[in-house]
Amino acid sequence: MRLSTDELECGEACIEDHSSVAHTGYKAKNALRGFRCWYVPFLKSRYYGNQFRPLLSYLYTEFKCNVNCYYCYTWDNKLKGMTLETAKKSIDFLKSVGCRVVAIMGGEPLLRKNFILDVIRYGADNGFFMYLPTNGILLDRDFIDSAGEAQVAAINLALDVIEEKKGLPKAYKRVEPQFKYLVKQKEKYGYIVFFNINITTENLDDVKLLTEIAHDHNIGTDYHINEMPVIDMEHYRFKDKGLWITEDYYRKTEDVIDWLIEKNRLGYPMVNSIEHLRAMKNFIRHRNIPWKCRAGHNSLVIRMDGTLAPCFELYATEKDWGRIFEHKFNARDLELQKQECNKKCLSTCNYQVHHYYNSYTAGLQWVYKHFHRGFFHRERRRAEGGRRQRGATP
Ligand code: SF4
Ligand code: SF4
Repeated sequence: MRLSTDELECGEACIEDHSSVAHTGYKAKNALRGFRCWYVPFLKSRYYGNQFRPLLSYLYTEFKCNVNCYYCYTWDNKLKGMTLETAKKSIDFLKSVGCRVVAIMGGEPLLRKNFILDVIRYGADNGFFMYLPTNGILLDRDFIDSAGEAQVAAINLALDVIEEKKGLPKAYKRVEPQFKYLVKQKEKYGYIVFFNINITTENLDDVKLLTEIAHDHNIGTDYHINEMPVIDMEHYRFKDKGLWITEDYYRKTEDVIDWLIEKNRLGYPMVNSIEHLRAMKNFIRHRNIPWKCRAGHNSLVIRMDGTLAPCFELYATEKDWGRIFEHKFNARDLELQKQECNKKCLSTCNYQVHHYYNSYTAGLQWVYKHFHRGFFHRERRRAEGGRRQRGATP
């Protein structure tokens, strides 16, 4: 059956309307979730200033990994992962101290898919923003649909390069089909997607290419500057070839960071603030300006056995920071700790917590990023489409 021109036009308009409604619903869902899981705990934390009220928690479920990134010191295939009982108790503990955001950490969490789905489900059922980082190699359609149904809030695809390189196995080409399916399903399930990119000596061009791929697919990005471990990790064997930014790479790295700042200004959705991107330029030249880290106050790490640490840079610290339901974070010890480690660290996550914690409007800006993700691109694409159409019809 052939449709008339009128019917075709009507059909296109209806599809557009339907997709606009779905897109608006998607944005509203993320705005609401951002408000409930980030902003309300933030307001309470500001109100009860002296209490331990983390806004962001890192739940280490796994240290095993299916690849070996040379810069990574949080994998060890000899260690046994977290039990489901500890994971659930950890979420109960976080709930009791007002936290509503859990980032599942590894290693590669997807080595135990059913376990991770159980953790996501338990967290989401308890009102948490469940955030899942993965290198994507084990992602498949079934898992993406199951994670969506379990109400995962964000999936963070860690990628460093387009094609695999020595020491940098997290390559876009390895996960491209899964990635496309992940993006296709995001509005159906309401999760957000972003790329997590580590800037090293060997992927400076890839950083730009990945940024453009993310932008073309209407998703956000999150950048780290490759940092040496803050403390010694006995099991870590690649300290001498971790692709740390050395003097020969200062200029090129700064150019890439300037390019990112420009894109940030243009509205590319990025987790990093411009302030953090600028700080990276000082950091690589060892001119680290002290920043007010809030680890141990507003963020924390739960290790696989249920013990605690302020941040993942200090995962292997020997100091006893307590365990779930018995934390031992106190202002004086944290202050002493940070006098030592702050000059060696530019933790992306904790820097963002510090940045957005600073003011009520910065906090709201963070929530805005949750529904803004992709908005700019969609509007821009429409405008470009309109311009193209106008150009085609003189
Ligand atoms: S994929 Fe992630 S956990 Fe595995 S080695 Fe690389 S950075 Fe580490
Ligand atoms: S500055 Fe903060 S995030 Fe960095 S190592 Fe120290 S406590 Fe951890």
